[in-house]
Amino acid sequence: MERRFDFLVIGSGVAGLFYALKVVEKNPGARIAIITKKGETATNTNRAQGGIAAVFGEVDSFEAHIEDTLNAGCGLCHRDIVERVIESGPRAIEELVACGVNFTSVDGRYDLGREGGHSRSRVVHASDLTGREIERALLLACRARPNIQIFRDHIVLDLVKYSSGGVERCGGGFVFSENGRTFDVFYAPVTMLATGGLGQVYYHTSNPKIATGDGIAIACRAGASVANLEFIQFHPTILHAPGRAPFLISEAVRGEGGRLKSVDGRFFMESAHELKDLAPRDVVARAIDKELKKSGEEYVLLDISHLEADFIKQRFPNIYKRCLQFGFDITKRAVPVVPAAHYACGGVVSTIEGETELEGPDTAGEVAMTGMHGANRLASNSLPEAVVMAEIAARASYDYFCQIDFPWSVPVDNSLYSSLDYPKEKIVIAHDRRQLNRIMSDFVGIVRNEDHLSLALKKVEQIRSAIEQYYMATPATCAVVELRNIATVAELIVKSALSRKESRGLHYLEQTQETREEFRRDTIIAGRIREGNA
Ligand SMILES: Cc1cc2nc3c(=O)[nH]c(=O)nc-3n(C[C@H](O)[C@H](O)[C@H](O)COP(=O)(O)OP(=O)(O)OC[C@H]3O[C@@H](n4cnc5c(N)ncnc54)[C@H](O)[C@@H]3O)c2cc1C
Repeated sequence: MERRFDFLVIGSGVAGLFYALKVVEKNPGARIAIITKKGETATNTNRAQGGIAAVFGEVDSFEAHIEDTLNAGCGLCHRDIVERVIESGPRAIEELVACGVNFTSVDGRYDLGREGGHSRSRVVHASDLTGREIERALLLACRARPNIQIFRDHIVLDLVKYSSGGVERCGGGFVFSENGRTFDVFYAPVTMLATGGLGQVYYHTSNPKIATGDGIAIACRAGASVANLEFIQFHPTILHAPGRAPFLISEAVRGEGGRLKSVDGRFFMESAHELKDLAPRDVVARAIDKELKKSGEEYVLLDISHLEADFIKQRFPNIYKRCLQFGFDITKRAVPVVPAAHYACGGVVSTIEGETELEGPDTAGEVAMTGMHGANRLASNSLPEAVVMAEIAARASYDYFCQIDFPWSVPVDNSLYSSLDYPKEKIVIAHDRRQLNRIMSDFVGIVRNEDHLSLALKKVEQIRSAIEQYYMATPATCAVVELRNIATVAELIVKSALSRKESRGLHYLEQTQETREEFRRDTIIAGRIREGNA
């Protein structure tokens, strides 16, 4: 079936929803489709706990927030982008409030939290469920606009492309619905890729199942460049509960006296850093990684049971409750934890207006690499980037929409479709995905070395090439589409990591533990990975 819209938005997280609302504000008559591959709230946004960093307090300043962001980014942030996002932060918060988001306040002022790496208290939050509140309010606002249509359980496979005036442009997306077993072409002069992160490329991740890096793979196949994919932020303490939805145990637990220990009871942070369990996030993640590699165990333990049970229950009600649901009483014993892929600092090379190297598709949110985060993201800086960027991109893409003479029936290449038959079995897909996940966690994780990276590349290339063939020959499912994207993104991550012969920010190379001036640059990989060309 063919469907026609003015704007096609891929993703129902903060970036996609806020962009759609801003487009409608500019152009109340615009017909907008929001496509989301699972339920509307199955997003990284919905999981965000901490909040949104923005300058409000009297003792804070834009300069201080900019400085903290640049320090975290280890020489790779683009200063102009950092300044623009941070200086737009307070207005972005007010815009979210205007959309119905309720942030926690005390005596009529935002209650500003403090997080690692921030020199001031500046994290605006909605209790410890900030993302859920943002998602709730923005979804409600979108549903109230009759010209915004949300298509859930629809997955975008690739972009529709056409040539006009000697330029290759994007004119929408190819969309598969597993429930109805249909392929549709959604035509639109403007397409917004707001597909979020890629944590599911790894075995352990804090990200929900949707975070399979689709936008990066899709943009890359269409010819856009990607950058800085070696910089994957790992959260040190995710509850180890294989097969269950990931649950993040906040750093505040260690802040209150929680201690990490090996399975045989050694408090290994004692010798890892002078701040012991309160060392910076990447140091703790590395220490745990080292411990796991040494012991061959699946997890380490986080212990807070030496504190008063009443205090634990009152200070960490949600963590206490959720751990109990997993079968762990944190007042009585230590819980198993692992570091997990949490945030991608890299992505599709984009301007802050959301423009990529291609005409027609824009990006916003975690899928984009604007230069905001450099080699390491400062906590609570991704939500503000997503909001500010979505707003600016809405303005820019509205101008593009007004100029473009769009041919409403672009000829499409049907060979992109695989079959609509029902799949007979899923074992190959599950097996390949497990293998890719393990390779990435074991060899391209927190601490890297060149031998492991080279080995990973060989294995990932082999699997990706097999998956490409399998993809075309197999009845379509969401799982096979995602597997193809995971393989593409895995290969891009390994190639990025191999090309950075230094340690910087989140990329830690055993052989070269120092930064090298000649690598003070983004790692850019040109689009269209094909056999032998990447
Ligand atoms: C546990 C956790 C806690 C966090 N805490 C914070 C925090 O406190 N502060 C902060 O700043 N950041 C935080 N982050 C990061 C932040 O939440 C994300 O970077 C941000 O929400 C990303 O928003 P987004 O709109 O780009 O993507 P998402 O919110 O992930 O939305 C992506 C959307 O794209 C859709 N999609 C993807 N691929 C396709 C496809 N092929 N077809 C159709 N739809 C597709 C998905 O279904 C989804 O709707 C946290 C992240 C996690 C996981």
